Amino acid sequence: MQTGGERVGENRSFWERTAQKISTQPLSESLTADVCVVGAGIAGVTTAYLAAREGRYVVLIDDGPIGGGMTARTTAHLVNAIDDRYIDIEKFLGEECARFTADSHTSAIDCAERIVREHKIDCNFERLDGYLFLPPGGSVTELMEELEAIHRAGLHDVERVDSIPNTQINSDAVLRFPRQAQFHPLKYLNGLARVIGDLGGQIFTGTRVVAVKDADRVKVKTSDGHTITAQAAVIATNCPINDRLVIHSKQAPYATYVVCLRVMREVDHALFWDTALTAEDEKQEIGPIPYHYVSCYRRFGQRHHARDTRRHLDCRSYRRARKSVGEAVRSITKDVEAASARRLRGGERKCCGAISRLHHARLGEIRR
Ligand SMILES: Cc1cc2nc3c(=O)[nH]c(=O)nc-3n(C[C@H](O)[C@H](O)[C@H](O)COP(=O)(O)OP(=O)(O)OC[C@H]3O[C@@H](n4cnc5c(N)ncnc54)[C@H](O)[C@@H]3O)c2cc1C
Repeated sequence: MQTGGERVGENRSFWERTAQKISTQPLSESLTADVCVVGAGIAGVTTAYLAAREGRYVVLIDDGPIGGGMTARTTAHLVNAIDDRYIDIEKFLGEECARFTADSHTSAIDCAERIVREHKIDCNFERLDGYLFLPPGGSVTELMEELEAIHRAGLHDVERVDSIPNTQINSDAVLRFPRQAQFHPLKYLNGLARVIGDLGGQIFTGTRVVAVKDADRVKVKTSDGHTITAQAAVIATNCPINDRLVIHSKQAPYATYVVCLRVMREVDHALFWDTALTAEDEKQEIGPIPYHYVSCYRRFGQRHHARDTRRHLDCRSYRRARKSVGEAVRSITKDVEAASARRLRGGERKCCGAISRLHHARLGEIRR
């Protein structure tokens, strides 16, 4: 479904329920800028901010509100534990690329933290540990080989631990990734958009870009017939709109589900991921080989806030998750299927605590 530039999902995400999406005036005349950025998701807003910070006159365009794309639907794990294993990156692209991957992800978390602190953006940013563990049937040997690849990639502080503290998740092997992070992505974007304005940049939402013509100066054309002429343009639309062949022919659509559930008892804040992609019995049982994420958030700005600052997190499905994320996913998947039949209305109204992401990755792998 697509309404007013919003491309994703009829149901409102946890982030959309706990922060406003900002809209500005649409572009009403042609203008000239140093840099034109198209797309006000995390990629576009961050790029616009960095360019504005270097003293460029930046124009940021989006056909929806700020954060109307995928960034408002993410589970918002800021991590250097990547979905594709380091050992696979090494195998396909070499050790140097695996090191770049680790460095770039670590730098991105540091960058977000720096921005939050410098501009005092109130977006619930917090550092926390992440745990990568085996689902039933997962291979300890493979996870240990992954740990070696992680160390070769330069992440020497990742370590094997005996268990995940304060949970009942049973796994034959667990890796702890220190200094990961999570935040509220919409609050972050809103804060950063304000900074872009303070730095002299301009943001036009409700403005659809229909063509980008590259020459000495780039011309970005909008559906209302206006043109932004710029020294450089950055197309941060997630799916490219300027090139309809090269990237599109390498992509395939896939489905990722996020389920948001209230958690009633106290647990540590941490990020949890399993390696279900590689677990044989999960493949047989579930089919399209999903892997699973879980994170825990305090309820933002609601009347139970005081309780929630003590990290009260529990729920029917999370208890199942503590037994085994695989089992939780099976039950959550059923919940999702049932709920999507009801358009998730009842289920989502209770959103507030743990966010679980089920990622059917294989359907979406990039064809080489
Ligand atoms: C369920 C789910 C969970 C995820 N979990 C994580 C996670 O935990 N950690 C992580 O790192 N990543 C995660 N991701 C991936 C992450 O959310 C995305 O990679 C990221 O948000 C993409 O940001 P973006 O700025 O590139 O795109 P978007 O946020 O999609 O922004 C693109 C913007 O471009 C605008 N646009 C598009 N076309 C036009 C046009 N023609 N004219 C004007 N504007 C246009 C759109 O309106 C949109 O606002 C998850 C994704 C999903 C779906």
